[in-house]
Amino acid sequence: MKKFKLIAICLCCAVIFGGCVEKREEAKEMLSKSSEEDLHEMTTFAMDTVMQFSIYNENGEQLLTDAEQEIRRLERLFSVTMEGSEITKLNNQAGLGPVSLSEDTLKILNRGREIGDLTNYAFNITISPVVKAWGFTTDEEKHVPSQETLDSLLPLTNPKDLVINEGASTAELLKKGMAVDLGGIAKGYTSDAVTALLKEEGVTSGWFSLGGNVSVIGKKPDGEKWKVAIESPLDANDSVGILEVEDCAVITSGGYQRYFEENGKRYHHIINSNTGYPADKGLISVTIISKDGTKADGLSTALFVMGLDDATNLWRNSNDFEAVFVTADGKVIATEGAADFFTFDGTDNDFIYETIKR
Ligand code: AMP
Ligand code: MG
Repeated sequence: MKKFKLIAICLCCAVIFGGCVEKREEAKEMLSKSSEEDLHEMTTFAMDTVMQFSIYNENGEQLLTDAEQEIRRLERLFSVTMEGSEITKLNNQAGLGPVSLSEDTLKILNRGREIGDLTNYAFNITISPVVKAWGFTTDEEKHVPSQETLDSLLPLTNPKDLVINEGASTAELLKKGMAVDLGGIAKGYTSDAVTALLKEEGVTSGWFSLGGNVSVIGKKPDGEKWKVAIESPLDANDSVGILEVEDCAVITSGGYQRYFEENGKRYHHIINSNTGYPADKGLISVTIISKDGTKADGLSTALFVMGLDDATNLWRNSNDFEAVFVTADGKVIATEGAADFFTFDGTDNDFIYETIKR
């Protein structure tokens, strides 16, 4: 299970500068009293992870119930393990013909395809047969598969063999043995759906974390930005720095989140679909900050696979996300835009801080 403390939300009050401090303090105090009454919180377990919510709204309790129902509805569509989910039906029908799918499932498959195209298939939603061979997303014990096994499975991971027919509302996996795995994108998609639902119902301030993938709505009730810490991949109780953000998703992928050891070597769950082996391009975590949670989730996985150079090139050619990378050789590297709202705090773990320019 992904540790949900990977990214912690810091709800500490910020210092107020400038004139009229007393009046502003008074106003803030009143605001904070009324908003405390509207604060509603919930912790639940879904999509194989712990989920936490904290929203400010007078109907907050009902809205959190609605949010939970929406998450369970999407889980029933996207799960690779739940018998009867749409993705299970699609996978069971591989090589046998098209399957009718709901709007959400078609949409997430399309988004997965789009992020695959953008990342030269570093993000590959048809990676499932290989992920399973390692024992991830199954009940089997995790182990290093033989090269023979990987060689036989890799031809089943060509994303172009997933055919999506929007007009007919169907999708089809062309080869028997193929399978879709939405583990790298489902929580991001869900975070977008929950954010939209809460905003539609009038929520203007709040945050939630789907297994460490954080989304924030608006600003804190006192008008300050939300503070989201990026966990140190080397120490679950420490962070490499704090992001001050509003209205966006902050999503981290890292090899330290799910792994096993065999013969003294560590193998993690993010797979390079060119080799069939865990990605090993010098990054130990990638955090993406974007208004588009689905993209943030897909890209955090993809950029981890791509490594710093290709990831930086992709960032330079995009304008809808920022990133913070932690490298195996001890650097915390923020893109120029992220550096504007990131405060580095990784010196405890001997990290060195750098930024990259456009
Ligand atoms: P994340 O934690 O968002 O980085 O997603 C990791 C999960 O995505 C894994 O547990 C797999 O289910 C799946 N996955 C692993 N490698 C890839 C890949 N190269 N492209 C897409 N999904 C992947
Ligand atoms: Mg991801």
